[in-house]
Amino acid sequence: MAVASLREEVTELLQSLIRLDTVNPPGNETAAAELLRDYLEESGVACELYARVPERANLVARIPGTSGGPRLLLLAHTDTVLADASEWQVDPWSGELVDDVVWGRGALDMKGQVAASAVAIASLAREGHRPAGDLIFAACADEEVGAGYGLSWLCQAHPEAVRAEYSLNEGAGERVELLGRAFYLCATAEKMSSPFRLLVHGRSGHASQPGIADNALVKAARLVERLDGMRPEPRLEPEVEELIRLVTGGDVPPADQVLPLARSVHPLAVELLEPLLSMTVSPTMIEASRKRNVVPALCTVTCDCRLLPGQTQADAEPVIRAALGDADYGLEWVEAQGGTRSPLRTPLWDAVAEFVREAEPGAAAAPICVAGFTDSHWVREAFGTVAYGFFPARTMDPEESARLIHSANERVPVDDLELGVEFLRHAARRIGAG
Ligand SMILES: [Zn+2]
Repeated sequence: MAVASLREEVTELLQSLIRLDTVNPPGNETAAAELLRDYLEESGVACELYARVPERANLVARIPGTSGGPRLLLLAHTDTVLADASEWQVDPWSGELVDDVVWGRGALDMKGQVAASAVAIASLAREGHRPAGDLIFAACADEEVGAGYGLSWLCQAHPEAVRAEYSLNEGAGERVELLGRAFYLCATAEKMSSPFRLLVHGRSGHASQPGIADNALVKAARLVERLDGMRPEPRLEPEVEELIRLVTGGDVPPADQVLPLARSVHPLAVELLEPLLSMTVSPTMIEASRKRNVVPALCTVTCDCRLLPGQTQADAEPVIRAALGDADYGLEWVEAQGGTRSPLRTPLWDAVAEFVREAEPGAAAAPICVAGFTDSHWVREAFGTVAYGFFPARTMDPEESARLIHSANERVPVDDLELGVEFLRHAARRIGAG
């Protein structure tokens, strides 16, 4: 590939990746894995494709370490969510470049970081970079659905391909201003997705004579209201404590004072902190009678519930039951996914913090726990990897990018792609120094 700069290189690679439709389902990520392999092999990076089924390959590329030093895994996923072309100003798979912004499904989530990771490892290979430990790039399938074709499967079926001491993935990197100072957020922890169902029993009967029945839907409505009024005791997790310490320059108030303080700082601070102070419960689905004239004997309320990292369902259940009060119902946990964290004081943190200071004098990196799930969970769980979500972005406003992810007109400024390549090269050199 004859290109003038890493900036052009990452832009062109991202455009090519967007032009491959990898909407999951069905995914078809093999097309992206092959494109990346062709690109990386040209720069002398060894690649391997691992596929549970032929059309859903994961690519793992590697610059081998020279002396068994710590390994760094650049993690990314090549699948995307769907796009409804009628809502877009451009074809979602055009990869159009307009005024230094690349448009298309996956530009932010997360083909931009896929391209930046590939360019970082390819450019380091061309320069003859010899890290002490392996520098690995994994472009995985199936993150958006998580049906077992991507990183979760790799960790089980081919653990040696992706085992690493450190990992960088999606999750954060946005620039926020608080109390007049710029912070770049780095995701070091994730909440646990832990939905549950409430089963409320009554007695069926003809709806024309409500008095002789016992309406489970009406009983459930009271419980739903109680859940809405639920205010779990706030807790100060290490990530939140460190974030507040950085923003205020030292003072960390007691947990119950954090939200009032955040309100006095900025609405953004409230948005950031509120979901991180306690578990959240949102009733989202309800099922009762399927016939208008039949009073339901059973009403099922499904609640989205996110626990703090380290918090268990056994910890959470008494809190939920206390909010529901004295009533007759059953509570069933549906599943538990994620909820892992990595330590804050590590060489990878130093690499992130140093990059931020150099990229913007006066700015600082700040840890955050994210409410959603990312693939970082799998390597934390399988290998105890120190996994952070960090891809720096300072050109696009964070509220704008949050609106565009999984939505129409997704796009990424080339300036942010270039910053991302610089960061990943910096981190690789820093960890690769051993
Ligand atoms: Zn993603």
